[in-house]
Amino acid sequence: MKRDLYETLGVGKTADEKELKGAFRKLAMKYHPDKNPGDAEAEKTFKDISHAYETLKDPQKRAAYDRYGHAAFENGGMGGGGGGFGGAGAGGFSDIFEDIFGEMMGGGRQRRSSGGRERGADLRYNMEISLEEAYSGKTAQIRVPTSITCDVCSGSGAKPGTKPQTCGTCQGSGRVRAAQGFFSIERTCPTCHGRGQTITDPCGKCHGQGRVTEERSLSVNIPAGIEDGTRIRLSGEGEAGLRGGPAGDLYIFLSVKPHEFYQRDGADLYCSVPISMTTAALGGKFDVATLDGTKSRVSVPEGTQAGKQFRLKGKGMPVLRSSQIGDLYIQIQIETPQKLTKRQRELLREFEELSSKDNNPESAGFFSRMKDFFDIE
Ligand SMILES: [Zn+2]
Ligand SMILES: [Zn+2]
Repeated sequence: MKRDLYETLGVGKTADEKELKGAFRKLAMKYHPDKNPGDAEAEKTFKDISHAYETLKDPQKRAAYDRYGHAAFENGGMGGGGGGFGGAGAGGFSDIFEDIFGEMMGGGRQRRSSGGRERGADLRYNMEISLEEAYSGKTAQIRVPTSITCDVCSGSGAKPGTKPQTCGTCQGSGRVRAAQGFFSIERTCPTCHGRGQTITDPCGKCHGQGRVTEERSLSVNIPAGIEDGTRIRLSGEGEAGLRGGPAGDLYIFLSVKPHEFYQRDGADLYCSVPISMTTAALGGKFDVATLDGTKSRVSVPEGTQAGKQFRLKGKGMPVLRSSQIGDLYIQIQIETPQKLTKRQRELLREFEELSSKDNNPESAGFFSRMKDFFDIE
C-alpha cells in the first residue's frame, strides 16, 4: 500500500504551491542522504518525499493524482527510460532537489536528462462542447501543434553521416558534481547541457534539436454522457522526446458549455418552466423539447403551486459507459400577470370577492399562525 502523497509531505489536500514547497524543503533538509550517510531508511524517506513533491507541484500530475490516486501513474505513463509520471527513481530526485535549493545555492535549474534522451512534454488541449454533444457523444478532429522526431537525422540532431560526440566535460553522464556548503550537489553539465553528447555538425533541418514542430490532426472520441471538467489522456500523443526520447502525453481538458434551457446535475437535467397564473389555477398542458430530439408533453393539474416539480423519466443525460439515462425535472414557476387592462382588473377584483379561505389555504392562514406563534397583536 502506497502512502498518500499529501500525507507523505504532511500537508492538506488544499495546500498551495508555497505550502508544498515549504513542507518539502523542511523534510528534504532533514532526510537528505548527504546528511544521513549510510542510513537506508532516511534515503527511502527522502525518495518518497521527493516523489510526492515532484508529483504534487505539477498541476497536471496533481489533478491526475487527485482523480485517480496512485493508479494515475501505473499504466502507460512510465514508458521509456525518460521518466514520465512517477519520476523519482534512483537519481531522479537530484532534479527536484536542485529545483528547490537551486535558488538558495545561486544556481539555475536544468531539466535532467540521461544520455541526451529526454521525454517530451505533456500537452494540454482545451475543448469546449455543447450539452447536445455531451448527450450524443462525438468524434472530434483536432489539430495539435506538436514537435515530432526529425526525419532527416532520425532524432539524433547530428547531420546525416556524422555522429554526436561524447562530451569531454562530463564524460557522457550529463552531470557534474560540485561541493556546495555541507551538500555535494550534482549539476547539469554546462558544456552539453545535460545531453552527455555534443554535436559538432548539427542537422540542417532541426538545428541539432532532433525534433521539428508540425501540426498534426488527431481524431478524439468523446463518449456520450461525458461531464464538464473531464480530462482525456492520449498516451504518447504529446510532444516528441528530445533526441529519440519517449513522447509525452496529450491531455484533452473538456468543458461543457452552459445550456440555454437545461442545467445538469450528473445524469439529471433541470428545466425551469414559467407558466401563467391562469394555467396554474385552471390546469393545462405544454411541450418541452428534449435532448433526444423529440418533445415531451407535460400536464399541469388544476391548482399547481410554484416550485412543483415534474419528472420526465429517461429524458436526462446518458450515464458514461452504461445504458442508463438520467431524468429530466421540470420545475414550475408561476408568472403573475402584469400591465392589466381596466376590464382584467375588474374581473380579478370580482374573483377576489368570490374567493374563500379554501381557495388559498396557505396564505389565508399564514398571518394568523405567525401572530399566534410570536404571540403578538
Ligand atoms: Zn534533424
Ligand atoms: Zn557534458
